[in-house]
Amino acid sequence: MSDTSLLAPTLAEARTGLAQKSFSARELAAAYNDAVKEAEPLNAYITPTSERALAMADAADQRLARGEALPLDGIPIAVKDLYCTKDVLTTAASHILDGFRPPYESTVTGKLWQAGAVMLGKTNLDEFAMGSSSTTSWYGPVENPWRRAGDNRPPLVPGGSSGGSAAAVAARAALAAIGTDTGGSIRQPASFCGIVGLKPTYGRCSRWGVVAYASSLDHPGPMTRTVRDAAILLRAMSGHDSMDSTSALMPVPDFEAVLTGDIRGVKVGIPREYRVDGMPGEIEALWGRGVEWLRAAGAEPVEISLPMTKYALATYYIIAPAEASSNLARYDGVRFGLRVEGNSIDEMYELTRAAGFGAEVRRRLLIGTYVLSAGYYDAYYLKAQRVRTLIARDFVTAFEEVDCILTPTAPSAAFAIGEKSEDPIAMYLNDVFTVPANLAGVPAISVPAELSDDGLPLGLQIIGRAFDEETVLRVAEVLETAAQFRHLPSFIAGGRR
Ligand code: GLN
Repeated sequence: MSDTSLLAPTLAEARTGLAQKSFSARELAAAYNDAVKEAEPLNAYITPTSERALAMADAADQRLARGEALPLDGIPIAVKDLYCTKDVLTTAASHILDGFRPPYESTVTGKLWQAGAVMLGKTNLDEFAMGSSSTTSWYGPVENPWRRAGDNRPPLVPGGSSGGSAAAVAARAALAAIGTDTGGSIRQPASFCGIVGLKPTYGRCSRWGVVAYASSLDHPGPMTRTVRDAAILLRAMSGHDSMDSTSALMPVPDFEAVLTGDIRGVKVGIPREYRVDGMPGEIEALWGRGVEWLRAAGAEPVEISLPMTKYALATYYIIAPAEASSNLARYDGVRFGLRVEGNSIDEMYELTRAAGFGAEVRRRLLIGTYVLSAGYYDAYYLKAQRVRTLIARDFVTAFEEVDCILTPTAPSAAFAIGEKSEDPIAMYLNDVFTVPANLAGVPAISVPAELSDDGLPLGLQIIGRAFDEETVLRVAEVLETAAQFRHLPSFIAGGRR
């Protein structure tokens, strides 16, 4: 039986506990390995790496004993199975990557291990990160550790695509995790699972070794229990990388140092276009409370306009599939994973891709190929690129007037597994508040704020200027303090472990 008391500390607290030798990295890793096992019903992990976790923890303990502790020494972390990890199965939750063990490590995971972190395993996701529910995985759907209050209706989705990482952190089957966010895949699952999720500025964290979905929109980022933990993890993940030509030559600030709790005089934009038709009353009410919390802390709410918002989803669902159709052309049965033999090379390609990709991935590849085809390139792809520029310009204009923007993270709480699977458009609408920050490349965080009428977590989002994660984190921490979100998912509270 594991020592569940070791699962309670946050990342920042565990760092202190390790430094003070209240427990060892090995004890911490062992407790989390047990928690990973006990959380198996959630299907949050595709590949647990418990042996590796213990070995990494032992190395951390030796450094701690020598007084040479690294910034993340002994911190157990879960990794979305979209990051390549050397010699460890990397699947992108797709059948087509069967058996793929990368001969290299992604830059971001490499940085974490160099900072002393311990790898707990690879977490489940929507296939190739395409989705908002973590139900399209070849390895089966992820279950949200939260249940609606007093009900035994079907289990809920954890959001997506980084749903395994979010569920693992929420269920205390990881101290923290990393995800990727192309249109909301860190923030929306964070909102659905009651944790913090941060999408940094485009270029802040290297994409090298992250399985590509839509390269101009993909962002690695941290998923944690607290804003402070996100600041700690982001620092270790960030920095220029010569292997990624879009990675930014920017100094990495000490993000933790900016968490002063002082947001007096900060101007917070409230974008009127985010009041979308059919938004549930409880989301609107929560947003209003967020405004009041920040006002009470001395910030100044300002109504702003982001006029291009209504085009963001349509723009995203042209650009993301277009880039995906190009990126996923590499899965041809020759270089990676699955191969289904045919009578000719063309037939081998077709059979491999037909067997290897799930329905949602095929849908995206068809859309992407269509919008890039000769007759439609100008009408769809080029037009979308132009609108994207206007959306980015909206933010530049807004940030001349305000320091950050407050919005809900998602238009709903977690929904049931299967609920929207037959209706791709309903699924795509989930991204309405998160997609604009990806198109503009600006940083955005989701902070757990309240429970819905059904007893499920709801998040609020802070969006900031490019490379100003500091303001985003500072305001987010004040929001977190005001919200006092202390609820635990039924998976823990119900004593399932
Ligand atoms: N839900 C969005 C999509 O399906 C975003 C996914 C993501 O951020 N990876 O494209």
